[in-house]
Amino acid sequence: MSVPITVTKYLCIGCPLGCSLEVEHSGQQIHDIRGYQCKRGKDFAISEHTDPRRTLTTTVRVIGGTERRLPVKTEKPIPRDKVLRLRDELRRVTVKAPIRTGDVILPDVLGLGSAVVATRDIKAV
Ligand code: SF4
Repeated sequence: MSVPITVTKYLCIGCPLGCSLEVEHSGQQIHDIRGYQCKRGKDFAISEHTDPRRTLTTTVRVIGGTERRLPVKTEKPIPRDKVLRLRDELRRVTVKAPIRTGDVILPDVLGLGSAVVATRDIKAV
């Protein structure tokens, strides 16, 4: 039995233009992509359709520092369906100052091959 051809729409988040993308596909098999204005948009449509990923940015608690919260992010995009779980994991994380930008806060989170790293310096008090 063949999978019917359908069109799924995505909003490109590659730049502020926010192009409307259309992916014509049979399940995971892509036949055509429309609406992009640059290669980045085409690549985004393919990724969004086959393996959607996001970079998580959030904060974790700090003790002994000049700030109470440390901004962090995943160093590589992770599967979109894992973002909420990781955000919940990070709510339980506390780090001790001093912290430097790029310090690894959690290595290889959830076995996804991406670490969570600090995105600013925080001095100890
Ligand atoms: S397709 Fe290109 S121009 Fe359009 S929103 Fe995406 S990155 Fe921007």
